[in-house]
Amino acid sequence: KKSVKAAKSTEQKSHEGLSYTQTENFGEWYTEVITKSGMIDYYDISGCYILRPYSYEIWEKIQDFLDSRIKSIGVKNCYFPIFVSSEKLQREKDHLEGFAPEVAWVTKSGSSDLKEPIAIRPTSETIMYPAFKNWIRSHRDLPLKLNQWNNVVRWEFKNPTPFIRTREFLWQEGHTAHATKAEADEQVYQILDFYAAAYEELLAVPMIKGIKTEKEKFAGADYTTTIEGFIPATGRGIQAATSHQLGQNFGKMFGIAAEYEDGKKLIPFQTSWGFTTRSIGIMIMVHGDDKGLVLPPRIAPLQVIIVPIPYKDQQEIDEISNQANKVCELLKSVGVRVQVDDRQVYTPGWKYNFWELKGVPLRFEIGPKDLMSHQVRVVRRDNGVKTDVPVSKLSTLIPALLEEIQSDMLARARHKRDSHIQTVTEWNDFVSALSQGNMILTPFCNEVEWEEVVKTKSRQESLALMGLEDEAENTATSAAAKTLCNPFDNNEQPFDESLRCFISGKPAKTWTLWGRSY
Ligand code: AMP
Repeated sequence: KKSVKAAKSTEQKSHEGLSYTQTENFGEWYTEVITKSGMIDYYDISGCYILRPYSYEIWEKIQDFLDSRIKSIGVKNCYFPIFVSSEKLQREKDHLEGFAPEVAWVTKSGSSDLKEPIAIRPTSETIMYPAFKNWIRSHRDLPLKLNQWNNVVRWEFKNPTPFIRTREFLWQEGHTAHATKAEADEQVYQILDFYAAAYEELLAVPMIKGIKTEKEKFAGADYTTTIEGFIPATGRGIQAATSHQLGQNFGKMFGIAAEYEDGKKLIPFQTSWGFTTRSIGIMIMVHGDDKGLVLPPRIAPLQVIIVPIPYKDQQEIDEISNQANKVCELLKSVGVRVQVDDRQVYTPGWKYNFWELKGVPLRFEIGPKDLMSHQVRVVRRDNGVKTDVPVSKLSTLIPALLEEIQSDMLARARHKRDSHIQTVTEWNDFVSALSQGNMILTPFCNEVEWEEVVKTKSRQESLALMGLEDEAENTATSAAAKTLCNPFDNNEQPFDESLRCFISGKPAKTWTLWGRSY
């Protein structure tokens, strides 16, 4: 095995390929793919990473997509400070309890101690709502709808993973206040739809919408809605984004009140919601393969790479190069993101590997034969299919092909995800389904204590199956199952009264989706 690996790594180094496959070691594969593709560079503070242009461009596309939708429903962008006083941070007790262990504090300026340590925002409820108190006086000040694009810091004790779980991350956080609960509910669901659309339409990653259980909801919220993704290679679910109904909890603590003409006062109903750079990691894990990234065309910084294949003499080289540039301009004029790789120092084969690693959706090869027959060879990154396309048809066929790739990628990911959802009605079948890399749908009594039981028992039995005694306290990925959500789709119908909870045997209240998760 060792010698195969050694041989492989020398061979692959010559074209900067990957030395790990996904099945060999998914963690190493991920690290290699994000660094070698030029997305991420490591940094000397654990849990913090450099987003290089190749991933930041993707983040900008996500921003454009979400920002325009968020604004379309009357939310305005703003910016609040990164720091929060400890007094304000501690105002909402449940919220504080949820975040306290992860809050980073500034205690010094230069060499002198600050009089009061100040916290770096883990999220901005406690920073924004004192201002909401000043701005919401009359019912006419409602609704108030604000969003900010910023960074937050959560000093996670679980092992960090680039994009997926980082100590500093980029996100947008929206915060709204409404006159009625119904209006706030609508806001919560509207945003969840936008989030699901960003994953499905842009990143080609299928989502399951649902509601978090009491145990998993946001600290200080009445309820949390979520979209959940799935990583087939590891059989793990992942919380992709969340939208919270905060009810009047924060309003009470921060003294927010809107007055009506008759003198009556109303504590507004609030929502908050966030979408982070985790999304990029999910997209990479869902679509990537042993050659590297596979980027959905709508998000790919570069959609087509043209590789000229020089043949004999200088004249031919020039002709091919001219043709490549002509094709490039043609595609640019119909809005395709395209580039010619005319670097002389690398062979075409080297370039193929290079751009495959970077996940560019289409490669064009133009050689002497193609030149003669006025066509280009088009190679799909997602499935390797090669076709010859006449130059005269490129400007119509290529934009259509990019869209086809986009929808094929979503369909494939959805099919794979769906084949990893199992319905289980008895505890006996649970851990084996889990260990086969599935998410599991069960009838559940929806009680926190029983959720704890499942967590503990599934960890114990999974470890026993693997012949392990225990797992590290800060493991990035636990063997235990937890609830991902109560999916909306499965809980729409009136509940069958005869259904029993798979763990407690009590009458079931929900269909609940469980899984190992990130
Ligand atoms: P929250 O404010 O806790 O509801 O978090 C909002 C969203 O941020 C979650 O749904 C996750 O998708 C994402 N998220 C949470 N923690 C991290 C992290 N450490 N790094 C990146 N994304 C995160």
